[in-house]
Amino acid sequence: MSEKHTLDDTGNYEHPLYKTLLNTPGLSVGVASLDDLLAWGLTNSLWVFPMATSCCGIELMATAASRVDIDRMGTIVRGTPRQADVMVVAGTITVKMAPRVKLLWDQMPEPKWCIAMGSCAISGDFYRNLYSVVPGIDTFLPVDVYVPGCPPNPEALMHGLLRLQEKIQRQRKGEKVVPDVNPDLIHVTKPSVPRLCDAARTKEMDAAQLLSATNATTDETSEPLAVEFTGALPKQELLAADFEGVLKELGVEASATDGPPLVPAARHVELAQRLKALGYRQYVSVIATHWVAKTGRKGKDEAEPEHFEVVTLLRTVGAKSRVASWSVRLAPGESIPSLAKVFAGADWQEREQWDLVGVPFANHPDLRRLMMPENYTLHPLRRDLAADLPLAPWR
Ligand code: SF4
Repeated sequence: MSEKHTLDDTGNYEHPLYKTLLNTPGLSVGVASLDDLLAWGLTNSLWVFPMATSCCGIELMATAASRVDIDRMGTIVRGTPRQADVMVVAGTITVKMAPRVKLLWDQMPEPKWCIAMGSCAISGDFYRNLYSVVPGIDTFLPVDVYVPGCPPNPEALMHGLLRLQEKIQRQRKGEKVVPDVNPDLIHVTKPSVPRLCDAARTKEMDAAQLLSATNATTDETSEPLAVEFTGALPKQELLAADFEGVLKELGVEASATDGPPLVPAARHVELAQRLKALGYRQYVSVIATHWVAKTGRKGKDEAEPEHFEVVTLLRTVGAKSRVASWSVRLAPGESIPSLAKVFAGADWQEREQWDLVGVPFANHPDLRRLMMPENYTLHPLRRDLAADLPLAPWR
């Protein structure tokens, strides 16, 4: 079906019936009422797409449950962005999650709105200076309503939805709705650690931040907690006998008292294989730690160079389970053989340690980023990493 389209004096499209309708007595009243009717329908059928990532998500769920019941204002929660009008971001958003949240937002049809629920979504809250958290979703999404609190309760979210309805109705009437800013509160919104690009940031702040990251317990002055035991303590073996036996066969000093026994990287895989054969079938964890110079097992030893320690923990399965834990010490640039072929569970855990600490696992089948974005260039749990680096992609 083809329709003859015309253009008005300014070159805009004009429907052929437009002037006729305009000249029909009483119709303008009808059009105004129709617009009100459409606005009423729009504001009372706000379907929510729940972007619930942490604790605030529970309050969002409670808002939909029987006590508050947002359905009574026509609001229901949909599990697909394509049928939703309002994205409610309830919880902490990490840097890696942010592009996925944006993708879902882009899949929502217009017109659409966004509510930032809770202080994590609003500003990153107490995680805001962390390497992995977005300091407020309004750094990548247009937020219409902020619902403060940690967490805001269901009534607060209900109030936020009512404010959104009010905002939509005002916008439909052609009003420009701009949020009021209280100038007295502006200083409250600044991050506790000035960012590197902030003129107020001094060299002393850089040094203090680095010190707190590398040497957090040096200034500890409190007395150790005195615990009085009554009765004899049961004798606790530090190392299970079979584990100690394997260590001896491999020629490893098993009596380390300042941490797990240190095993050379070249014996790492062999030790794991032999322990697995002895019944240590559960790969519990691998934890890598970065030690800057003059820190580590020997405390503040002047001669201690920068290094890494990679601690592996296995256990037997079943009652009276035994554990085996050992450490491999590496100099910067050295790698540790992967255990992914011995224990399937090592695959992701090794990836995580490489991603966060930067320890390379030789012969790993798929050593890619796991927690951080693919284009991230740093290893955030290294002790020499100053938080708030300008290189961080979300700053
Ligand atoms: S604002 Fe509080 S309750 Fe909400 S996600 Fe953050 S920490 Fe959890």
